[in-house]
Amino acid sequence: MPRANNPTLGTIACETCGKPSDVKKANGNRNRYLYTICPKCGTDQRAGAMVQARIWSGTEWREGMKPETAPPNLPEPTSAEPAQPEGGKGQEPKPKPKEPSGAGGLLMAAFLVAPLLLILKGGA
Ligand SMILES: [Zn+2]
Repeated sequence: MPRANNPTLGTIACETCGKPSDVKKANGNRNRYLYTICPKCGTDQRAGAMVQARIWSGTEWREGMKPETAPPNLPEPTSAEPAQPEGGKGQEPKPKPKEPSGAGGLLMAAFLVAPLLLILKGGA
């Protein structure tokens, strides 16, 4: 059990009932962990990372009472996602395949059709 003479470092809303709870620092080999004492719910000495992180970031510290060292097991701060670099996925307008030049196409058609016409005429 924590000693009663641990100084109150700050207050935080109780996770269970919302009442202001005292925030204190554990003793001995757990002295980097924080715990809370709610007047209604009692002492919460859970040392889990999420519990400690909540206390560490949510406590209203008394003047000069914030510990110099954070609890040792705080989860890595979730840095904001790096912005996706623009481009890469950008839709580039596809270049239209160039039509064969009209004149050349017509000329080609004429060369193909003319013999046919001759054949047909000759046959008739
Ligand atoms: Zn409570």
